[in-house]
Amino acid sequence: MAQLTLMSNESLTILRRSNTLCGWPRPAPGSMSRGNDYVSRATRRKVGERAGFRCEYCLLPERVMGYSVHIDHIISLKHRGNNIIDNLAYSCWLCNLNKGSDVGSITPDTHQLIRFYNPRIDIWSEHFQLVNFRIEPLSDIGVVTEFIFGFNESERIAERSVLF
Ligand SMILES: [Zn+2]
Repeated sequence: MAQLTLMSNESLTILRRSNTLCGWPRPAPGSMSRGNDYVSRATRRKVGERAGFRCEYCLLPERVMGYSVHIDHIISLKHRGNNIIDNLAYSCWLCNLNKGSDVGSITPDTHQLIRFYNPRIDIWSEHFQLVNFRIEPLSDIGVVTEFIFGFNESERIAERSVLF
């Protein structure tokens, strides 16, 4: 702040007009965005109806969530996904938060990169089974999804045992 107060108005004007920001080229307008993540209310409703108003990953029903459901971009905008309804999933906030912009992970046994469960093309019961309120993986897709999404964190198992 002390340096700024010593700068003349002329210097500040030159800084404002320059095409650099802290030595880096200034981004072109709109170039920082990786896409518009806005999903209309009507589309959210369609995604919810299609999902039966439950998280498409951990199956938590919306009626017991106690917070707003998230609309997940299955392939995140960061990875060139888009806003079409086939790329959207109804998600509880924990699944959505844990997934973030990831699209897959590494299996612990084979160390291969495996994509996550995709509710648009996969069948839940082929990749997971519910055993004593735990979501057990049945495939490599199930393994990486269960791990990254945190399906079996102790609080979530406890929540499932009360709500399911
Ligand atoms: Zn979930």
